[in-house]
Amino acid sequence: MLTEPFVTDYCRANIWLVGGSECDMLVDTGMGICALAPEIDTTPGKPLLVVATHVHLDHVGSLHEFAWRAGPRIEAPFFETMPDEATYAHMFRNFPGAVSQLPHPAWSSADYTIKPAPLHRLLDEGDVIELGDRTFTVLHLPGHSPGSIGLFDERYGTLFSGDAIHGGLLVDDMPDSNRAAYCATMRRLTALPVRVAHGGHADSIDGARMREIAEDYLRRNEG
Ligand SMILES: [Zn+2]
Repeated sequence: MLTEPFVTDYCRANIWLVGGSECDMLVDTGMGICALAPEIDTTPGKPLLVVATHVHLDHVGSLHEFAWRAGPRIEAPFFETMPDEATYAHMFRNFPGAVSQLPHPAWSSADYTIKPAPLHRLLDEGDVIELGDRTFTVLHLPGHSPGSIGLFDERYGTLFSGDAIHGGLLVDDMPDSNRAAYCATMRRLTALPVRVAHGGHADSIDGARMREIAEDYLRRNEG
């Protein structure tokens, strides 16, 4: 797991590097305030697939730095131009305490933009990402955003859950959030044999805690 320690808590997201025997995978790419690619340990000649779980700013900031990009088909058009209305990059401009250390003296959050990063592979529910000795199935987990995906390794019960579920504050009140869809996602997650969930924010959670969070969400949001 990599993160961006000097970014305000609200926007600090987790970045996951997953090693496979044939191919490595990076899940999400942070805010892109500093270059991410030089921080990623890659093996010459071994492909690195970079997957964005959704198009929000704190997950796609450095996506443009990578040559092989995948993300949810439903949000794919936004990756072509990274418009504010999809990434919410405007929320970070002039955000109080945006960063606790400047990447360089002239840096200002007022100038924050996200470079376009068109997708090479469009992911749908049920698609399979093969890393050689590890295989991930794409789960469409809408609610936080319309296209949000998770990546599930059934053999080990490992879920990379993006912002669909994690141990921090779940956000379901953005303009593109949908609580009914989120409830359906939570119902699905309660039945999923997850051993550990690595989310887009906060610490990783075990399956029991994940199901507890999902059930709690359902109690609060289902009539
Ligand atoms: Zn998000």
